[in-house]
Amino acid sequence: DCPVSSKAIVQDACASYLTLEKLNVRVKPAIDDLTQTTDFFSHYRLNLFNKVCPFWDDQNGFCGNIGCAVETLDNEADVPEVWRAKELSKLEGPLAKHPGGTAKKEKRPLHGALGDNVGESCVFEYDDECDDRDYCVPEDESASAKGDYVSLLRNPERFTGYTGEGAWQVWDAIYRENCFSKSSFPKSANLGMSSWPQGPAVQDFKQMMDAAGRQAQLQQQRLSNPKTPFVASTGFEVDDECLEKRVFYRVVSGMHASISAHLCWDYLNQTTGEWQPNLACYETRLDKHPERISNLYFNYALVTRAVAKLGPYLQTDQYQFCTGDPSEDAATRAKVLTVTQKASIIPQIFDESLMFVNGEGPSLKEDFRNRFRNISRLMDCVGCDKCRLWGKVQTNGYGTALKVLFEFDNNSDDIPVLKRTELVALFNTYARLSESLSTISRFRTLKDEKAAAE
Ligand code: FAD
Repeated sequence: DCPVSSKAIVQDACASYLTLEKLNVRVKPAIDDLTQTTDFFSHYRLNLFNKVCPFWDDQNGFCGNIGCAVETLDNEADVPEVWRAKELSKLEGPLAKHPGGTAKKEKRPLHGALGDNVGESCVFEYDDECDDRDYCVPEDESASAKGDYVSLLRNPERFTGYTGEGAWQVWDAIYRENCFSKSSFPKSANLGMSSWPQGPAVQDFKQMMDAAGRQAQLQQQRLSNPKTPFVASTGFEVDDECLEKRVFYRVVSGMHASISAHLCWDYLNQTTGEWQPNLACYETRLDKHPERISNLYFNYALVTRAVAKLGPYLQTDQYQFCTGDPSEDAATRAKVLTVTQKASIIPQIFDESLMFVNGEGPSLKEDFRNRFRNISRLMDCVGCDKCRLWGKVQTNGYGTALKVLFEFDNNSDDIPVLKRTELVALFNTYARLSESLSTISRFRTLKDEKAAAE
């Protein structure tokens, strides 16, 4: 039961499920408190409705269920004062300079203007600027970009009824980003294309995804037992052994598993109209696929390490949690630090310094980053608003974790420069993973109870 690759990623060979679960018992109350009681971490501004899917015509993939809808904060009075348009425009300006570093571009600096009293995290950001260290396409907080403020608390991630060809097409495209070297699918060659043909029929997608699932399972067996024969299946060649490619796959599959855990737990029983856990859903999607659960735990270890690594920087004035009220800001910082301290209990739970160093590792880094960016772009193809919201939050969260882990040298004085949306996404993704671990435990109990009753 080794959820995290024993091949050198984790220092003491393998952090067991139990170790991570014990850690989570300590982390969960703190991360829930942070994400559920502070304005800063419970509001996310993003462009939810105005972007079109850059990869295919998604007109048919929309989910019309009420469960798919997102309630945005249309009334400015509901938006914390410091983020209202008027306040944001005050912060905008051309002389931006991050206190810890120099702005990258002279004309339109990435991180907005900072006066002496203005925190990096409050600042106006430009949508189309992408730091070359970013793992995802930045979300925009600027007043001009017509993004919407969303209360994450009022739009919980849960079952929405979004399914079918539209959803499979997105997952399929996401997994195809894992084919780093070769793929038998010409359409996966470059996701920058606009001419991706309309997807094949639903049945083809199902077959393809099942083949992908089988392939992933085989890959998993192969990793634990190198003698397992490799059987190539159509369309999902994962003919790679290197650490970086395995990490990429695990991050994606772990995110998928986490989403499945939440929708199975917070499931709408369409007969009774009640929201309740759906054990059969858990058994089919997760319990029968231990490698998916393993990938979920892997992500927990990875994000825990990123949060712990960021901790010391968040203590300083380099980061400000500007809500407009100094005592609330101080309380928010204290809550953040409680989370980062708890996340630091197991040092080096994930050893990022081993990645991108040996063999083809160094040359893979840019590819890895670009592929992750493509996944973040794919979120605009998700045809259910609420799924898109949480998909965007979580891809941004993982992207930020990867950026913190792989773009900031542990031994350098370089200060990780993060946007407000990145910080909020990182901690909310951590909260989602924390909830997933606890959900899996609760499902295991339900399963045992059911078995005992039979
Ligand atoms: P899917 O979950 O669609 O999976 C498709 C195929 O992928 C499977 O057949 C299997 O071969 C493979 N697979 C499944 N899980 C894994 C894994 N962990 N690792 C590797 N391979 C795997 N629905 C909601 O109700 N609420 C949400 O909040 C929500 N958010 C979503 C966010 C995104 C970004 C996307 C793309 C979809 C979201 N959905 C959501 C839809 C949901 O994820 C499923 O697509 C839908 O419930 C149909 O499920 P399914 O059982 O057909 O398989």
